[in-house]
Amino acid sequence: MSVFNNVHLRDHEAVVFGCDRAAGLRAIIAIHNTSRGAALGGCRMWAYESEEQALTDVLRLSRAMTYKSALAELPLGGGKAVIIADPRRDKTETLLRAMGRFIDSLGGHYITAEDSGTGVQDLKVMARETKHVAGIADRQDADGNWHSADPSPATAYGVLVGIKASVQEHLGRGDLEGMRIAIQGLGHVGWCLAHHLRAAGARLWVTDILPETRERAAAELDARVVEPEAIYTQAVDVFAPCALGAVLNDQTIAQLQARVVAGSANNQLADDHHGEMLWRRGILYAPDYVINAGGVIDLAHELGGYDPSQARSHIARIADTLIEIYRRAHRTGSPTNRVADDIAEERFQLRRSVAAA
Ligand code: NAD
Repeated sequence: MSVFNNVHLRDHEAVVFGCDRAAGLRAIIAIHNTSRGAALGGCRMWAYESEEQALTDVLRLSRAMTYKSALAELPLGGGKAVIIADPRRDKTETLLRAMGRFIDSLGGHYITAEDSGTGVQDLKVMARETKHVAGIADRQDADGNWHSADPSPATAYGVLVGIKASVQEHLGRGDLEGMRIAIQGLGHVGWCLAHHLRAAGARLWVTDILPETRERAAAELDARVVEPEAIYTQAVDVFAPCALGAVLNDQTIAQLQARVVAGSANNQLADDHHGEMLWRRGILYAPDYVINAGGVIDLAHELGGYDPSQARSHIARIADTLIEIYRRAHRTGSPTNRVADDIAEERFQLRRSVAAA
């Protein structure tokens, strides 16, 4: 594996390899940027086909976290960890504790959280070895109810706020009453979002790849349920991708009737130039890592002593960030995904130059 030739190793501050043969641990932590604060990002456990693939994943994901935290106005940088192992077969207490010690050895420069292949219970095991773990405390919401550390409700709330801001900006509507919204994917975030949108008076078109989820939606949600591939062509105002990445590509963008794309899925654009394609078609795209930051904002508030109303009002500021992006996009003629990257880079480079001054 050639580490230094990896094209995704760009402006990273550190890439650290952890190995504990007795525990079966092979892991990589990438710290992309700490100019705004410690590098926060999830710990993914995945049966990667090669070490090269694991390295590429951790480099890309850690960089994305820097952008996300900067645009969410968090005093945090970007990092990520990957454990090269099959979460269904290889996960043991010994391995997780070894990972906890590896994280601890970085002295707080990297703070971990859950990701694909790891959950709250796994993080609690790591937390026996290190205090640099976020997302394990139960939370009390603004109504005084206690919830598990699941970030999805916070993410869904952020997407709701983002859809409202996008609709206001592009369609000139101050509320969602009667708005036609299509949701792709009814998992943790999509289901919660559907309830929020119905409560706001929107009319819903929904789908999921799982037939049982579509059946449940037909029974429990006041929504039109369509087949997965039919979701792109619905005559709706907003398309909310809440399933997979890379769903905005040459074929699907040509099919879209929606005027706004705003949803939780990560890496929605198959390629950067699809942001340009949406822009040219007059479809307003809410950059994914901006609108889906509710979960990470909530997590960050846990680090400073959790106050539910403060966390919620911070998540609500996603609307202001999106409006800033949209206004600059209109001024400069640049697509919204590019403008989001530019603003993020200004924010973390600004910190760096202030620190150096
Ligand atoms: P999830 O796994 O709970 O739900 C995803 C749903 O999408 C599942 O019900 C799945 O069956 C469905 N699905 C998969 N492929 C589909 C397809 N082709 N068409 C229609 N439905 C399909 O995941 P989640 O936690 O709800 O997250 C949804 C998306 O948002 C993911 O991309 C995730 O990375 C992103 N995200 C989630 C959070 C969070 O707090 N959970 C935070 C930021 C970003």
